[in-house]
Amino acid sequence: MFLIKNLRRISPTTSSALIGFRNTGSPPLSSRFCTTLNQPQQVQSPAPNGLDRSRYEGLAPTREGEKPRVVVLGSGWAGCRLMKGIDTSIYDVVCVSPRNHMVFTPLLASTCVGTLEFRSVAEPISRIQPAISREPGSYFFLANCSRLDADSHEVHCETLTDGLNTLKPWKFKIAYDKLVVACGAEASTFGIQGVLENAIFLREVHHAQEIRRKLLLNLMLSDTPGISNEEKQRLLHCVVVGGGPTGVEFSGELSDFIMKDVRQRYAHVKDDVHVTLIEAKDILSSFDDRLRRYAIKQLNKSGVRFVRGIVKDVKPQKLILDDGTEVPYGLLVWSTGVGPSPFVSSLDLAKAPGGRIGIDQWMRVPSVQDVFAIGDCSGYLETTGKPTLPALAQVAEREGKYLANLLNEIGKANGGRANSAKEIALGVPFVYKHLGSMATIGRYKALVDLRESKDAKGISMTGFVSWFIWRSAYLTRVISWRNRFYVAINWFTTFVFGRDISRI
Ligand SMILES: Cc1cc2nc3c(=O)[nH]c(=O)nc-3n(C[C@H](O)[C@H](O)[C@H](O)COP(=O)(O)OP(=O)(O)OC[C@H]3O[C@@H](n4cnc5c(N)ncnc54)[C@H](O)[C@@H]3O)c2cc1C
Repeated sequence: MFLIKNLRRISPTTSSALIGFRNTGSPPLSSRFCTTLNQPQQVQSPAPNGLDRSRYEGLAPTREGEKPRVVVLGSGWAGCRLMKGIDTSIYDVVCVSPRNHMVFTPLLASTCVGTLEFRSVAEPISRIQPAISREPGSYFFLANCSRLDADSHEVHCETLTDGLNTLKPWKFKIAYDKLVVACGAEASTFGIQGVLENAIFLREVHHAQEIRRKLLLNLMLSDTPGISNEEKQRLLHCVVVGGGPTGVEFSGELSDFIMKDVRQRYAHVKDDVHVTLIEAKDILSSFDDRLRRYAIKQLNKSGVRFVRGIVKDVKPQKLILDDGTEVPYGLLVWSTGVGPSPFVSSLDLAKAPGGRIGIDQWMRVPSVQDVFAIGDCSGYLETTGKPTLPALAQVAEREGKYLANLLNEIGKANGGRANSAKEIALGVPFVYKHLGSMATIGRYKALVDLRESKDAKGISMTGFVSWFIWRSAYLTRVISWRNRFYVAINWFTTFVFGRDISRI
């Protein structure tokens, strides 16, 4: 839909770049688009490189007189911060992503149990960079990038229809002057059987929606007449695998929900709901011992059970640990860290440790011209001598900001076009300074560590004050005033009326 809307909005000026846009999978629509889009382009001059633009299936290379085009793959922390900072008087911006919004991930766990509403953590891209819906040469395409052809300066994409029968998947190309790969990472399953089929990840809004629906469904099913006690116990057993900040924050939210809302509204089953957190090593290993011990104590008080073990197999209703223990579950949330996506792995580019796209200190992919990579999908090449930065929003966001400024400078120095920035000095390289870590653990408590690393000197604290800092910090970090307002209202209504338990 979004793609179609965008295409319809194309003015004659823009459509000179977007021609021969053909839906190979759906002839009737294809011919309609071609007619509409090709009409204003009866008189076409060939592109400078001799390319026949009328046959280009997508956004053809930019020409003299048009702005150079920055193509951004991904609408996460890195890509959105970059788009926000790009000077749209210099560049046209084209974003390709399977979602038309950015997710404010630090507050995603709160949406799973209804502390926050889903819309409060989703920010539409067109609000982050309004030029995408206003400027004739800037677009958002709801699609996945499937291939990079760095020699021809183009990416191959495929539309996304979410399995709906609106349009068959449609392949198209986009020529870029500058390409920014910001397509994040994917949840790691370590090849454990049954994870993909039976567990729910916590990375996107639709995951949070799935978790909330399943949790409420299990609560209601467990209260139906005739259900065996064993089945009831299973349905009400919530298992979280992975003791990093996301797994711990989700467990904290869940135990808050159980202690406050389930007790009041599902009084029949309140004593049967349990949360187990399974971790192979130490929970919250990025925090120091004192903070970790505090978190474990508080979560224990909230009823969260810790199990140290390695998951070997996941069946539809139980998982099996390496020592043979069987753990029945009704809800299984998987949060064991991230690794490169199949798309990133498929790219024929030098890789950094961990399989990320290898970059230098200016975020460039050195082996190819005009390609940059930022966020979780990228890492410093070993030749830079720099360590891989953690997969964090604060890294992704600052890389996005840095690269936007760099591209703006390159554009101002007339290096915006493809292959035209070879001689331009790039200035100061990117330097990352860690600002600290925070994690909420439920019951109005949190951990705040403002040190550069867990062994450095500085401020670290726990308890209610930390929770207040955590909330204030994230409220100010929420992308827009609209969402800041939503979040504040949601927190207020949850405090006064409790969480919403309707299964919509
Ligand atoms: C629940 C949760 C809580 C978190 N809490 C914190 C926190 O408190 N503090 C913190 O610093 N970090 C936190 N993080 C980590 C942080 O969210 C990530 O490090 C950050 O999102 C990375 O940003 P990114 O832009 O690289 O990737 P992402 O934000 O993951 O965005 C990637 C984008 O690329 C798109 N994409 C994927 N494949 C393709 C493709 N083939 N073509 C085009 N587009 C594609 C995706 O749809 C998405 O839009 C949290 C993460 C999660 C999941």
